[in-house]
Amino acid sequence: MKKWYKQLHWQILIGLVLGLIWGLIASVAGLSSFTIDYVKPFGTIFVNLLKLIAVPLVLASLIVGVTNLNDVTKLSRMGGKTILFYMFTTVCAITIGLTVVNVMQPGKALPQETQAELQASYSQNIEGSEESAMEFKERGPLDFIVDIVPQNVVQSASDNGNMLQIVFVAILLGIGIIQIPKEKGRILIKFFDSLNDVIIKLVDFIMLTAPYGVFALMAGVIVDLAGDDLTKALDLLGALGWYCIAVLLGLILHVLIVYSSLFKMFSKMKIKDFFKAIQPAILLGFSTSSSSATLPVTMERVEKNVGVDEEVASFVLPIGATINMDGTSLYQAVAAVFIAQALGLDLSIAQQLTIVLTATLASIGAAGVPGAGIIMLVIVLQAIEVPVEGIALILGVDRLLDMCRTAVNITGDAAVSVAVAHTEGLLGEMHLED
Ligand code: ASP
Repeated sequence: MKKWYKQLHWQILIGLVLGLIWGLIASVAGLSSFTIDYVKPFGTIFVNLLKLIAVPLVLASLIVGVTNLNDVTKLSRMGGKTILFYMFTTVCAITIGLTVVNVMQPGKALPQETQAELQASYSQNIEGSEESAMEFKERGPLDFIVDIVPQNVVQSASDNGNMLQIVFVAILLGIGIIQIPKEKGRILIKFFDSLNDVIIKLVDFIMLTAPYGVFALMAGVIVDLAGDDLTKALDLLGALGWYCIAVLLGLILHVLIVYSSLFKMFSKMKIKDFFKAIQPAILLGFSTSSSSATLPVTMERVEKNVGVDEEVASFVLPIGATINMDGTSLYQAVAAVFIAQALGLDLSIAQQLTIVLTATLASIGAAGVPGAGIIMLVIVLQAIEVPVEGIALILGVDRLLDMCRTAVNITGDAAVSVAVAHTEGLLGEMHLED
């Protein structure tokens, strides 16, 4: 076994902690602009590299997966199960979020002056969020299905990696390949198979730089949050402490209750081993705040270390990175009720049920990128008639919570892939070494 400090997940963790320390020191020592100019860009390069390989990876591995399935009924059965598991875990997440926030009532502890000051300082950001969410809200009821079918495949690949469109094209191509004579299809299958292997090699290379990338990302986040005035940032965090604790407690309960039960019901896997196996993906989700950027690593860990067959992983995970966001939906439930409480509004049972419905839709609609969850929160707030301006209260701490909810989003996708693989008889051995 490798020494602990030579293991990748420890190195990423060390990078993360050192980045955090650097960010704090930089804020106090007036090194914020140095960090933004000369440290943060390395984090951006790292995220760009991951995004760069996400589209070809999903395309190649899903085409190979579909051609291996060789059977369209199996594909639709797996699709049905995946959506069902995803919906189930999302509704559980929102229910847990609502329970925690109603019991803890963090909004009632927020000082009035802080509310006023924060509202004033963030009012510009809200306008942007409201516009994006309005665009989403004004679309027809079937538009989300229309959006899955691209008119132009090059555009969907370039459109910041529209994963659902890529998944659709890959499934279509895969089905096409298995419908033509075997000797003709074989060339394409071999091509995508070796492309897939090449990309997995590239993921390995990129992951070697992960500790440095994560260091730069964390330093950038802290400096952005604190600027040169650390006390103000700490005050703000203190005032919103209860709200953060409510979200974090909800996320922890969700992982412990829902994913543990999922494993008990659908696999013999120990949750501890599962976490160990996917740890680099969780840490990366935490430091990038993006399910989409983390996808290549999630896929690699779930296949290589958790033992989920490629057929299942290449199908379940890209869909999950786009539509399954347990952490985001839980956070939206807590945030919506917190804002209502902070503004002195009592929500009825009907309004709380509306949160279940709209937070489910809003988390499906949210892209796997940083900050998507707070933009979609506007829809939830409008549905329960709570002033959208209330978002100003939570914007300051959003990045921190975004990191945590993204880690849970990724864990949820991976957990569902284990459940689907088990029910399909496609769950192999675990490998806990890097
Ligand atoms: N950042 C989250 C993700 O990529 C989405 C969100 O903002 O909640 O999964």
